[in-house]
Amino acid sequence: MHNIKAYSAAGATSPLTSTKIARRDPTEHDVEIEILFCGICHSDLHSVRNEWSEFMPTAYPIVPGHEIVGRITKVGSAVKKFKPGDVAAVGCMVDSDGTCPECRAGFEQFCPNMTLTFNSPDKHLGGVTYGGYSESIVVDQRFVLRVPSNLNLAGAAPLLCAGITTYSPMRRWKVGKGKKVGVVGLGGLGHMGVKFAHALGAHVVVFTTSPNKKEAAHRLGADEVVVSRDAGEMQKHAESFDFILDAVSAEHDINAYISLLRRDGNLTIVGAPPKPLPVAALGLIMRNRSFSGSMIGGIPETQEMLDFCGKHNITADVEVIPIQKVNEAYERLLKSDVKYRFSIDMASLKSE
Ligand code: NAP
Ligand code: ZN
Repeated sequence: MHNIKAYSAAGATSPLTSTKIARRDPTEHDVEIEILFCGICHSDLHSVRNEWSEFMPTAYPIVPGHEIVGRITKVGSAVKKFKPGDVAAVGCMVDSDGTCPECRAGFEQFCPNMTLTFNSPDKHLGGVTYGGYSESIVVDQRFVLRVPSNLNLAGAAPLLCAGITTYSPMRRWKVGKGKKVGVVGLGGLGHMGVKFAHALGAHVVVFTTSPNKKEAAHRLGADEVVVSRDAGEMQKHAESFDFILDAVSAEHDINAYISLLRRDGNLTIVGAPPKPLPVAALGLIMRNRSFSGSMIGGIPETQEMLDFCGKHNITADVEVIPIQKVNEAYERLLKSDVKYRFSIDMASLKSE
């Protein structure tokens, strides 16, 4: 065991501050990674502030961060896939049992014994796991991903959550040429959704509450942009979408989007507002529409997504910040003021 620098919050109303945490020494199947960049996901903020207390109560202190890219510093004796010096990535999970039907099907995120990167029981050290707002991390090799060498690392970090969370449902619902696809909320997840839908050949419409994001939405790959507070603009798209991805972090009217689906259309929600959203049964019934959810993606699909990004040269549009600006970044997330993902340059932690 060894101590490293990190940023943690002591309680739901406390800011993130500099601290020291323990990491295990790598066992034979482990990879140790020096963290270079860590994206800031809105889930970090929900967790730090214990906003999901009903489903996933937060244990304090919490060290968030699950969009991790770094350089391997050590590997255990049984590790054959990686070597020191390689660039590697870690997402929302660091372990699972590897034997249950979900793991065998490549859906580790649904394994009953899955360990999240932060705020999960830590079976090695006791207590809970600590995430990527830290100098380094030790992870079982099965949860370590390869990053295509052409990708910018600050922009690649958000692929590990925002990327896979939007890629996975788009593949499941067969987004592609000839499909009209909506993306609701142009934040970290939403902007990745736009890039993927565009790369997959769909006609992409962005729904935003921020008129000042219109131009950027087009640059990111949107064919059309609708300011969702304008009922007239919304009405123009009634009953026309094959698929809509909802990536909004706060309460909003989901029925306004369900009514935009055509017959058999699907709305998948990936945004996780803490409070329930009312859904009108008749809105679904009237056109055989469906409403579903999606949770990140399994390890094989995460690697597939990273390789897809390598092939299409896709990374997140990031604002790189030092760790010392993390509390300010959280406040900006709450104001929808992010273009379009904060990526923490972890070298900034060295000065703490
Ligand atoms: P984010 O960067 O903060 O983006 C959220 C966007 O939602 C904002 O930029 C804004 O877009 C829109 N929005 C915010 N408040 C709104 C309101 N009151 N009404 C309507 N629109 C509003 O967040 P993120 O990191 O992309 O995460 C989005 C959500 O996904 C979070 O709840 C997060 O926890 C969840 N998440 C889920 C998974 C999963 O596995 N399902 C994985 C990761 C994250 P506009 O300015 O364009 O309106
Ligand atoms: Zn996330």
